[in-house]
Amino acid sequence: MIQQVGATACGFLSAASAVYFYPDKPWLVTAHLGNLIIQLSRGGHMAAPPLVTILPPGPQLAPSLPGQKDNEKEVDEEPAAVASGESIHLSSLLGAEDADDETFLLSDSLSRSSSTLDKPRVRLQKKVHVIEEVLEQLRGIVNEGDPKTKYTEFVQVGQGGFGTVYKATDPATGDVVALKKMPLRKRSRKELIVNEIQIMKENRHPNIVNYVDSYLVNEDLWLVMEYVDGGTLTSVLVQVLMEERIIAAISRECLKALDFLHSKKVIHRDVKSDNILLGMDGSVKLTDFGLCAQLTSERSTRCTLLGSPYWVAPEILKRKEYDTQVDIWALGIVAIEMLEGEPPYFKESPVQAQRLIARNRCPPLRMPSKMSVLFHAFLHSCLDTNPSIRWTARELLQHPFLRTAVSLSVLPDMIRIARKLCKAMEALQASSASPEQKKE
Ligand code: ADP
Repeated sequence: MIQQVGATACGFLSAASAVYFYPDKPWLVTAHLGNLIIQLSRGGHMAAPPLVTILPPGPQLAPSLPGQKDNEKEVDEEPAAVASGESIHLSSLLGAEDADDETFLLSDSLSRSSSTLDKPRVRLQKKVHVIEEVLEQLRGIVNEGDPKTKYTEFVQVGQGGFGTVYKATDPATGDVVALKKMPLRKRSRKELIVNEIQIMKENRHPNIVNYVDSYLVNEDLWLVMEYVDGGTLTSVLVQVLMEERIIAAISRECLKALDFLHSKKVIHRDVKSDNILLGMDGSVKLTDFGLCAQLTSERSTRCTLLGSPYWVAPEILKRKEYDTQVDIWALGIVAIEMLEGEPPYFKESPVQAQRLIARNRCPPLRMPSKMSVLFHAFLHSCLDTNPSIRWTARELLQHPFLRTAVSLSVLPDMIRIARKLCKAMEALQASSASPEQKKE
């Protein structure tokens, strides 16, 4: 099987100027592709995703810390979210209404797009607003007309928990856009849709997927946005484990988006790799404003239990008042995703993961001794359990770790390699499926 993997890898790495196989390490391939050095390796069992390390040109970051003390326990209360059971149906666990009279919607529902990493994430919802009320508000915001008559060449490019995403063209300008069709009937927390459109409309930034248009057709809301052609950060990091200087570059771009949103008193509340889109021009853009909250001078914190379980900040789980700093925690988790291919505790159920997040000090790292001192320091600055000590987006933009960032021009190569790996793995899985599996 390892040889098969190697052969497949060779196929798509044929563009490489040099590919090295190691006779004593048949699972390892190193290829020089342009100015990138790629290491392809594979864990012992077939369920594991392939691991690729992309090493950008230039000197490697130097010193590593000795072992990190993982899993230091913090004596604190049991998180409310997980106090009463083990079921991942969090609605039955959570039961209580929030103090701020918003309903909760913990947590993300979607499984990773990669078939190798499928894992349910639970999003639970409680209905509060009647559909007519939301339709009324939306009519005051959206454009008149039907996007199917304005745009052409519709191609489905994604399926989210809240709707289907299409790529299409505006024939008048030639612009390519993404359209997300969200059926209101199917959605709980319908008032968050109004929020999503309003916040997107009012906040434009190069590191945010910007709003173009919106329409209401019967009870379907169509959100038209910039089309970002490189896919989600998740689709890359499940295939490619990134070198620290690429992590620094992507983190910096996300921090620019967060600094902008936080300066406008907006909390994103769902920062995770699935909501970071990459462009083939090297752009990095934060998307999905469906769980955003607008803070005001009268109301500078929130307490709704809401977010995605593996990325949620401990103060949310402990039912404390929280603010924009929850996004910084989530960004720290995204940095770990880029390093390790998945967030901490991803092998645990969402409920158990939340229990561990609420109890432990800093999430555990798999190989802390392999990380640079600067990366350690960056993660600790993002993942302090005390949100008032946790660095802000503005402060993190000055963090020395970000000065190690490579040029964003390496991202398109990385995306292409991840796509090829994904296709190769799918082909390999199809060819190694049993006759019964193939029939299915
Ligand atoms: P949901 O919020 O309902 O879960 P998403 O907004 O995450 O749905 O979109 C689902 C998928 O559609 C994403 O994973 C991504 O692949 C694709 N997608 C979403 N927005 C865009 C966009 N602006 N450009 C390109 N693809 C997009």
